Amino acid sequence: MTSSGAEPSIFSRIVAREIPATIVAENDQIIAFEDINPQAPVHIVVTTKTGEYRDVVELAAGDPLLLAELVRVAHEIAAERTGGEFRLVFNTGAAAGQTVFHVHAHVLGGGLGEGTLG
Ligand code: 5GP
Repeated sequence: MTSSGAEPSIFSRIVAREIPATIVAENDQIIAFEDINPQAPVHIVVTTKTGEYRDVVELAAGDPLLLAELVRVAHEIAAERTGGEFRLVFNTGAAAGQTVFHVHAHVLGGGLGEGTLG
C-alpha cells in the first residue's frame, strides 16, 4: 500500500523489483524499461520513481522539473536507439487508452511509417 492507501501500481512494483522488467535506464527519479507489448520496433516506457502522479497533467502541475527530467531521459534513450527522432506519447485518461495510472511516457521509434498520428 502507498501512503494514500491505494494499491501500488504495476510500475511501482517494477521500481521495487517485485516484478521483472528489462530496464534500459534508471536514476534517482526516473526508470525506463521495455514495454511488455511493444507497438513499434522501439517501445520503451519511461516513468517516475518518486511522487504519486496519475498522469502527465498532474505531473506538470505538481512537479514540472520531474516532467522535464522524464523528457530528458526519454530523449537520451531515443538518441541511443532511434537516432534521436521519436514519438513521445502520454495517454491521459482511460478513454484515451491509459491503462496504468502512474504517469509514464511511451518512447516509440524505429520504422513507425510516415505522417501518421495513430
Ligand atoms: P498505457 O496504456 O497506460 O498508456 O500504457 C501502459 C503500458 O504498460 C502498456 O503499453 C503495457 O503494454 C505496459 N505494461 C503493462 N504491464 C506491464 C508490465 O508488467 N511490464 C511491462 N514491461 N510493461 C507493462
